Amino acid sequence: MATFEPMIDSIIVGYGLAGFHMAWQMQQHQKTFLLVWDQSLKGASSKAAGVCNPTVLKRYTMAWNGIPFLNYAKTRYTNIEAQLNSPFFDTLPIHRIFTNEREQNDWIVASQREGLSAFLNPNLVPQTAPDLKNNAGYGIVEQLGKLKINPLLEQFKQTLGSKQYLNQVFDYSQLTPAKNGVSYKGIQAKRVIFCEGYASKANPWFNYLPLTGSKGEYLIIKAPQLARTQIIKGSIFISPLEEGLFWVGASFTREDKTATPTPQGKEWLLKKLNALLDTPYEVVLHQAAIRPTVIDRRPLLGAHPSFSNLFIFNGLGTRGVLMAPLLSQWLYDHIQEGKQIPNEVAINRFESYFSNPK
Ligand SMILES: Cc1cc2nc3c(=O)[nH]c(=O)nc-3n(C[C@H](O)[C@H](O)[C@H](O)COP(=O)(O)OP(=O)(O)OC[C@H]3O[C@@H](n4cnc5c(N)ncnc54)[C@H](O)[C@@H]3O)c2cc1C
Repeated sequence: MATFEPMIDSIIVGYGLAGFHMAWQMQQHQKTFLLVWDQSLKGASSKAAGVCNPTVLKRYTMAWNGIPFLNYAKTRYTNIEAQLNSPFFDTLPIHRIFTNEREQNDWIVASQREGLSAFLNPNLVPQTAPDLKNNAGYGIVEQLGKLKINPLLEQFKQTLGSKQYLNQVFDYSQLTPAKNGVSYKGIQAKRVIFCEGYASKANPWFNYLPLTGSKGEYLIIKAPQLARTQIIKGSIFISPLEEGLFWVGASFTREDKTATPTPQGKEWLLKKLNALLDTPYEVVLHQAAIRPTVIDRRPLLGAHPSFSNLFIFNGLGTRGVLMAPLLSQWLYDHIQEGKQIPNEVAINRFESYFSNPK
């Protein structure tokens, strides 16, 4: 006699920060889910520095909704650490390096501004940092942290049972959306939540959305004499890893949509690094990824305009560590309780792209 799989709550496609936080959210509410992700497919999350920062240090402004995102993210990461019994979130400052007196003055002014004043310490450090070139001291950005993304995602995946994880690429041709749910390779679920990052360009249901994508290249360097535990922000970021290794990046380009590192990208990074660093180093790794950026630089959350059981959680072009926790809560509340998704991130802002495709 034929047996049938019971209906599960959600199929989650993709396992970067968006897929992880969606799965976490489901698990916390005892909702059943199946994660579909081929672990050889590395997205932007696996390459990111992991910095959790609500300030925009280039322009001295706050990121959109920065403080609510940060407060929610800190609580979420603290809970994750307690439940998985491992430290994944390091609280550590950024040292914003100045090259001249004007930049010092800009800092002092910015540190008085509403919002920013909670993060920019007004007492700048005027002494030249010894391991950096041509600098006029630095300012300290406080209350921030860095997430160890890959160890976290790996450890959470290990906790999943065999019915919660399919190690394969999601095959769109096998998905049948219906009125009450979806069917995928004989699995019945109430819905699918696509968390595919830039690869969503190939998704036949959501490729109408204006996901533009931007490539970022970065280096891992070994610099044994750079005894730093803080993140350095000059014209690029230098972020400490373990054992004398540092993450250095990142470049930003919209033209090239391949995740292949390029000689031009490396040259650009080395030029910035050599202008900043005054200590020997060697390059250990050079990699690239495509950030899932959106035309209006806001995330993408919501249900498909015609298939109400297909959802998307995407558009984390930057600040995925900061934003994904609260965004996953918003999407969960929308799905379970019908709460409205904030207009800034709801995909219905792009309704005309669906109804009048170019
Ligand atoms: C160089 C660089 C540095 C960055 N630094 C930071 C930083 O310090 N802090 C920060 O907050 N953000 C940073 N970012 C941005 C950050 O990477 C993103 O905000 C975030 O990682 C995006 O997460 P995501 O889950 O949406 O996408 P992704 O991480 O790309 O995850 C999507 C996953 O879905 C999988 N997938 C796609 N299609 C399918 C399919 N059909 N079947 C199965 N699986 C599929 C992909 O393989 C991928 O693993 C950085 C980005 C880059 C490129």
